[in-house]
Amino acid sequence: MIRLVTVSPCYNEEAVLEQSVRRLTELFDRLTAQGVISQDSLMLFVNDGSRDRTWDIICELHEQNPHVCGVCLTRNCGHQSAILAGMMTARQWADAVITIDADLQDDLEAIPQMLTALQDGKEIVYGVKVSRTADPWLKRLSAEAFYRLQSSMGVESIFNHADFRLLSRRALDLLAEYRESNIYLRGLIPLLGLPSTTVDDVISERTAGTSKYNLSRMMGLALDGITSFSVKPLYMITYMGLFFLFISLLIAIYVVHALIVGTAVPGWASLILSIWIVGGFVLIGVGVTGIYIGKIYNEVKHRPLYHIKEILSPHAL
Ligand code: UDP
Ligand code: MG
Repeated sequence: MIRLVTVSPCYNEEAVLEQSVRRLTELFDRLTAQGVISQDSLMLFVNDGSRDRTWDIICELHEQNPHVCGVCLTRNCGHQSAILAGMMTARQWADAVITIDADLQDDLEAIPQMLTALQDGKEIVYGVKVSRTADPWLKRLSAEAFYRLQSSMGVESIFNHADFRLLSRRALDLLAEYRESNIYLRGLIPLLGLPSTTVDDVISERTAGTSKYNLSRMMGLALDGITSFSVKPLYMITYMGLFFLFISLLIAIYVVHALIVGTAVPGWASLILSIWIVGGFVLIGVGVTGIYIGKIYNEVKHRPLYHIKEILSPHAL
């Protein structure tokens, strides 16, 4: 039997917590009765510096319900860090962890499917949003544009997967080896290289409280997602410089033509040519500097270079 720990980040979630615990408890009871998860499975709530009664409610629920545990962060550290804090705390207790937002907008029915996949030997199971009709159209549109932009920048991530996923104990142990501070879990987890699969996640509407992700937060996450995993933007500056130099060649031809036919005003030719040539060289210079910075950036992350899947030790001699 699997000892499951669900991890839910909470930021000002007083309105929804009790209901979430009730729904999770029902699910736990069902899965325990079916013999899928063990009786001592847990739901861990991470209070991410809430300004309302969130932590008090978590403490009360902890008293009443043996499944409920909590972690309280000293300040608001953001969704990604809160999830990581929860997972690293849950690691000591869990055979598997499922991260799910405290508002339980994700599909609870996907959880039994995730556990089946775990029993089939998968170490990572991604919840993939199949229908986003419950999301406001602007959110849906911007989220999908964001996934596309990311993959065009070479960031390996799962399309329409947010942070609803199952990680096995082994996956958590490998994740703990990543010591970088710009965390973008959706990009990091595929790097673990463990067997994975996806399950469908039908999003429902928030039953209480309001969304904590406004447009600027979403854009921040999108930028983090790209800049933590890709140095492509830096290379793009260099390419732009090369493009400018190419344009200056065309302009040179045009300028010579203008000089020959006599339409050029004195001084114009040298001015216009130098603008494009100097512009091109400046961009290339910035781009090349950027490429070196990109390499330094990758070095300082100290990401593990590899994860070992298996070792066949020498036979006893
Ligand atoms: N959250 C958090 N810290 C923050 C912002 C959000 O822990 O700084 C939590 C929040 O309590 C919720 C989850 O992250 O459990 C997702 O946030 P929300 O539901 O507001 O986002 P949406 O579903 O609208 O994208
Ligand atoms: Mg939500």
